[in-house]
Amino acid sequence: MSNLNLQTVTSVRHWTDTLFSFTCTRDAAFRFENGQFTMVGLEVDGKPLLRAYSIASANYDEELEFFSIKVPDGPLTSRLQHLKTGDTLLIGRKPTGTLIVDNLLPGRVLWLLSTGTGLAPFMSVIRDPSVYDRYDRIVVTHTCRHIRELAYRDYITDSLRTHTFLGEQVREKLIYYPTVTREAFSNVGRITDLIETGKLFTDTGLPSFSTERDRIMLCGSSAMLRDTRALLDARGFAEGNQSVPGHYVVERAFVS
Ligand SMILES: Cc1cc2nc3c(=O)[nH]c(=O)nc-3n(C[C@H](O)[C@H](O)[C@H](O)COP(=O)(O)OP(=O)(O)OC[C@H]3O[C@@H](n4cnc5c(N)ncnc54)[C@H](O)[C@@H]3O)c2cc1C
Repeated sequence: MSNLNLQTVTSVRHWTDTLFSFTCTRDAAFRFENGQFTMVGLEVDGKPLLRAYSIASANYDEELEFFSIKVPDGPLTSRLQHLKTGDTLLIGRKPTGTLIVDNLLPGRVLWLLSTGTGLAPFMSVIRDPSVYDRYDRIVVTHTCRHIRELAYRDYITDSLRTHTFLGEQVREKLIYYPTVTREAFSNVGRITDLIETGKLFTDTGLPSFSTERDRIMLCGSSAMLRDTRALLDARGFAEGNQSVPGHYVVERAFVS
């Protein structure tokens, strides 16, 4: 298990019966870029059982934080959802991923569009002070079925705005746009519909997407990624990656 670090769980928070977050200790040598993912898991029957997990904490934080689904019969999360403080976690030593600002061309507005646990990498990005230096505005959208699934809502609307180091920049530049699809709420609907009808832009007070100004990160279900990609491609946006920066970058929140 030389490619893995053994770390200790320091806290667990259950948001709903299907979503939870946990934090663990961090190896002093573990470095990552905000927005990346790594392998996370448990030792089961003497062997590592690992899955990809976006890191939700910022790269300057002492601990690592993750935001997880609970799949009832999922090999890992059927076990992981019972984590307790003091338990041992396996953490991959080699973080990677495309959702990093260096994979984007320079721009003025950064849009972070997520569904479900796809919010996780953006929790890291919106805690990165250099992101606030690079962009005039940062918009994070989070779409779920139900209001109770909008994890981190209070953190983003309250704690982050009064954060000792980031608070001022957050208040000036960050727009949080939660939306739900299955019940009444201030913002309702899929993000693709909100883009196409222009409601996203009316509500945020920002102009509609332009390749000159807007840079976009996507993290969500396969359907959300497929539909949003099609919409961006039709507007002339080019996808970026580690080799060639683009107008937008994409990461799957999970494999179906
Ligand atoms: C790049 C990448 C980053 C990821 N980051 C995260 C993360 O930050 N948080 C997280 O919870 N998961 C994340 N995942 C998914 C994660 O790797 C596992 O699939 C998840 O932990 C479930 O593991 P499992 O062994 O219990 O079930 P699996 O056998 O892995 O999955 C069983 C089924 O559950 C569904 N499923 C799995 N994960 C999710 C999810 N997150 N949301 C909705 N449905 C899901 C899918 O239909 C999947 O086929 C990520 C996946 C990838 C590829």
